[in-house]
Amino acid sequence: MPDKSEFDSPLFRTTLHQLDTVAARLNLDPNFHERLRYPRRALVVSVPIHMDDGRTEVYVGYRVHHNTALGPTKGGLRYHPDVSLGEVTALAMLMSWKCGLLGLPYGGAKGGIRCDPRSMSPGEIERLTRRYTSEIILFIGPDLDIPAPDLGTDEQVMAWVMDTYSMTQGKSVPGVVTGKPILIGGSAGRKEATGRGLVFILSRAASRLNQELKGKRVIVQGFGNVGAVAARLLWREGCTIVGVSDVTGGVYSPQGLDIRQLGIHAEESGGVAGFPGADPVAHTDFLELPCDVLIPAAVGSQIRGDNADRIKALIVAEGANGPTTPEADQILRERGVTVIPDILANGGGVVVSYFEWVQGLQYYFWRESEILSRLQEVMTRAFNRIWAVAQKEGTDLRTAALMAGIRRVAEAFRIRGLYP
Ligand code: NAD
Repeated sequence: MPDKSEFDSPLFRTTLHQLDTVAARLNLDPNFHERLRYPRRALVVSVPIHMDDGRTEVYVGYRVHHNTALGPTKGGLRYHPDVSLGEVTALAMLMSWKCGLLGLPYGGAKGGIRCDPRSMSPGEIERLTRRYTSEIILFIGPDLDIPAPDLGTDEQVMAWVMDTYSMTQGKSVPGVVTGKPILIGGSAGRKEATGRGLVFILSRAASRLNQELKGKRVIVQGFGNVGAVAARLLWREGCTIVGVSDVTGGVYSPQGLDIRQLGIHAEESGGVAGFPGADPVAHTDFLELPCDVLIPAAVGSQIRGDNADRIKALIVAEGANGPTTPEADQILRERGVTVIPDILANGGGVVVSYFEWVQGLQYYFWRESEILSRLQEVMTRAFNRIWAVAQKEGTDLRTAALMAGIRRVAEAFRIRGLYP
């Protein structure tokens, strides 16, 4: 097999391991398997911008299309200091399986810029976004590849991507991104969709396990778009949110945190650290706090071989992409912990992104209630199918979800054939 080490990263190794394991289980045609192990295209760009102090800084950006068999590609745009070609490629691969298992007409993609947005001014982030967009302009488009928010990006960044793309076309092209503000073609319910989908799937899983969500002790790592929404919704459902962490640190209260007040504190002070009345917790100890449910909703590779046996939760619902390494997966499985895998648990975001794209193409927008009921319909279908496969095949939920996603992409390969 030719060396493809340019894609190497811890997360890429994890996703390859998952693919290889499931391919063996599915008896996947080795020709399809080999094609699925690597991205269809990967673009590396340098992104020079003027900084506020007059210097020119050059950043590195990526956009990777993993697979286009099911349709145009779809995936987030990440701004974080750890972004690399290997990480973005792994995340693009996960998007392929996610769209496959949810039955969406998309292939997987991902993009990112290696930078620390927390240390940059809004003006610098705008210039970074616009220059990056112009560098990848031939790679994106409403029927080609549609970016969305991810770690470190938000609806304002999506508005800048859309505006930059639109200026080169001489007309507004809202369908080039999803997760944009409602006023310029965004969808009701998109901002909360990932957290909402996660809570929905978690409550389905709890009821299949004959448990009630109400009263459960929950810890949430990451208090951004996914983590904060999930924490708020679970708090409203009657869960006790005993711990929350973000990049500034962790806070813990066995009696439960007031999530509304925590949100105000994080907004005002720039993070959850220092929340009055709660105990501070170091990042290294946070995931091991006593709880019933753990929601990793920050960065990848957090639950590893060296800490998985100390995790107290009986259910792990993966808001983040790739938070659990294969060694940790095995330890959790042996300990009887139910892991709801990323490609199912955090799929609500791409589902409502799909609705936003469809609404934009039709210039006809739906009510929020309509979006919620359609989201529930798609998520319920996917959850029921995966739960049934896991029962029938005697596998964990991750294997069942990957089997569903990979099988669909491979089937599209078979039907389309290999060009030329
Ligand atoms: P975000 O930038 O809105 O929030 C990220 C949060 O994680 C912030 O609170 C940040 O402080 C915290 N964080 C960063 N590094 C941390 C660390 N080492 N320890 C603890 N906290 C840390 O990002 P987001 O959109 O909420 O994305 C979070 C995760 O969810 C990512 O893995 C992303 O790929 C995944 N995801 C996001 C979406 C979406 O719609 N936004 C959809 C699917 C999956």
